[in-house]
Amino acid sequence: MTASVPGPVPAAQLKERARAAIEACRERLLDLSEDLQRHPETGFREHRTAATVAGWFTELGLPFESDLSLTGVKARMPGRTPGPTVAVLGELDALVLPRHPLADPETGAAHACGHHAQVASMIGAAVGLAAVRQHLDGDVAFLAVPAEESVELEWRREQVRAGELKHLVGKADLLARGAFDDVDMAMLCHTSGQPARLSVGDSHNGSVVKRITFTGRASHAGSSPWHGVNALKAATLAISAIDAQRDTFRDEDAVRVNAVLPHGGDAPTAVPDRAELEVVIRARTLDALRGACAAVDRAAWAGAMALGARATTETTLNYLPHHQDPALVEVARTNGTALFGPGAVAPGRHLGASTDMGDLGAVMPVLHPFTAGATGDAHSVDYAVTDHVLAALEPAVLMAWCVIDLLVDGAAQAHDVLARRERRTAAKPDERPAADRYSDFRAGFDGLTHYDGTHDTVRGTEGEL
Ligand SMILES: [Zn+2]
Ligand SMILES: [Zn+2]
Repeated sequence: MTASVPGPVPAAQLKERARAAIEACRERLLDLSEDLQRHPETGFREHRTAATVAGWFTELGLPFESDLSLTGVKARMPGRTPGPTVAVLGELDALVLPRHPLADPETGAAHACGHHAQVASMIGAAVGLAAVRQHLDGDVAFLAVPAEESVELEWRREQVRAGELKHLVGKADLLARGAFDDVDMAMLCHTSGQPARLSVGDSHNGSVVKRITFTGRASHAGSSPWHGVNALKAATLAISAIDAQRDTFRDEDAVRVNAVLPHGGDAPTAVPDRAELEVVIRARTLDALRGACAAVDRAAWAGAMALGARATTETTLNYLPHHQDPALVEVARTNGTALFGPGAVAPGRHLGASTDMGDLGAVMPVLHPFTAGATGDAHSVDYAVTDHVLAALEPAVLMAWCVIDLLVDGAAQAHDVLARRERRTAAKPDERPAADRYSDFRAGFDGLTHYDGTHDTVRGTEGEL
């Protein structure tokens, strides 16, 4: 008689084991989501949140690296055999919203985008997958990523100038540092104030940030305004010139151009010699983004030319357009339907907002479902996660189930996701590191331009009247 070798455990059984492990940790995971919600921290400064994540990784016995892009934490859970690496992400950061009811009274940080629940769902997925890791034919990476939101940009620019950061948002910076070079695909679950229990397959606009500094000449606003060059007027003309072009943006490109004037002069007694305009430009495609950026550049130059001022524009590609991988979307839809029922899974749509998951999606397959559990409009004082089961616990189960499907049976589904992506891009597997491929996508956007509108004559074509 020979001893029989046990066959592979069916995926359905592994999923139940993972769910049971998460359920066994239910109260602690809910506490985690609530605790992080009460301790919001802004991007690249999420030290307490990162330390909390590191504590969980230690408890789970997962080796990890910390301080990636200042605050990122990355753990690795090896499977039974080598294979593709699936990353489960959680974003660490909050927004700056001092009037939010749960805002930190000192920093004004507030979790008005629900990222605290993402961190709890990532930890929950780690708890669930730890129970089945010996059945997975590939690795799982858990990444707590900093700074998804675009806030405190001037402080971040200082960090870039000081060499502390390469980019203004977290996943871009992590990509440029090679933190995703050993990852094949990535997923995270974002909370939503929408009624659907789950929505999968949404796409997002890409976005560019322009900091435009108008430089004029100060003079006494009462006695000699004619000696001055009014930088504030140049800036407000630029805003009008942007507005004049809005109906040239095509509906299908979902262009958004939003500007604020962080500096418009020092005192009304002097002609302002400096004005600063911060503009966020969003669009569905890179081409549409380039076109809208050109419109904003022309508007800035027009303002400077009209007043005889100078305009210096610092342009940063903030987020690439975000498109989820269709094969991963199907994995999530199947598991979401099994978990919540067919009526609970909404189809994807295009959103005007942006996410740096788009940057990651440019170099690898990504999945970014929205889950219920929040109320109010994202980024508003009304937005809050009110149901941590829907926002943190259920997404943990969903992601654990998706990872199980991807990595069982020789990681057949994960290999299929990678092969289908390769066919779609009609390219051989790109052997270059993700960091190099990523820098190609950014090419042509980032830079500093100067426009000098101080010439006091405008040359026209000479000819007879
Ligand atoms: Zn947000
Ligand atoms: Zn968010």
